[in-house]
Amino acid sequence: MSALLRLRDGDRLVLATHNKGKLKEFQELFEPFGLELISAGDLGLPEPEETGTTFAENARLKAHASAQGSGMIALSDDSGLCVDALGGDPGVYTADWAGVPRDFAHAMKRVEDALQAANATSPSQRKAHFMATLCLAHPDGRDWLFEGRCSGTMVWPPRGERGHGYDPAFMPDGYDITFGQMPAEMKHSWTPGETGLSHRARAFAKFVEGAIERE
Ligand code: IMP
Repeated sequence: MSALLRLRDGDRLVLATHNKGKLKEFQELFEPFGLELISAGDLGLPEPEETGTTFAENARLKAHASAQGSGMIALSDDSGLCVDALGGDPGVYTADWAGVPRDFAHAMKRVEDALQAANATSPSQRKAHFMATLCLAHPDGRDWLFEGRCSGTMVWPPRGERGHGYDPAFMPDGYDITFGQMPAEMKHSWTPGETGLSHRARAFAKFVEGAIERE
């Protein structure tokens, strides 16, 4: 892997997403660093098909498509839920399990039905983790990956109205409430120098340590 790219105050970066929610979440994370973020959606770049079989492959596909399409440095994020008793499913297909249009109540039920079919009833049989992989890509073809993981247990029925996606069915290790019951600051808790709780906050912490120059 080539020497890590260093970003500094005032640099502009494309966020490889067409999802306004993701853009907002990253703008909040980037706030302390003075880096300007613009999304692939706002630049009118096409959305690549996520044909990879790993988070890293899909993150690389998205980051390179944005870097090539814009001529700018790009950052992507690919994430999902991996359930041990289901052999790591839904994994890279986490969004797909919610169908079209996305229905996460249905997606959580699908995971629960699969756990019941596997006779996974005790908490120790219901272990899972969220994964987030960030990819920073340069238009010259170089790229760098940053991974974050958050381990926990699948609960049923879902608890809490906060968050998004599978949050109400996932209880992170060390807590007795689900992501769906946590205020966003607790789930994403991240400040410079710390690791944070969520998979995305943890991946972002590695990215900041490795790729952002600070005074
Ligand atoms: P992608 O990263 O946009 O390809 O999709 C990731 C999928 O994983 C989405 O459908 C989300 O619902 C799910 N996911 C990723 N992170 C989280 C999280 O923090 N909480 C709940 N669901 C998540």
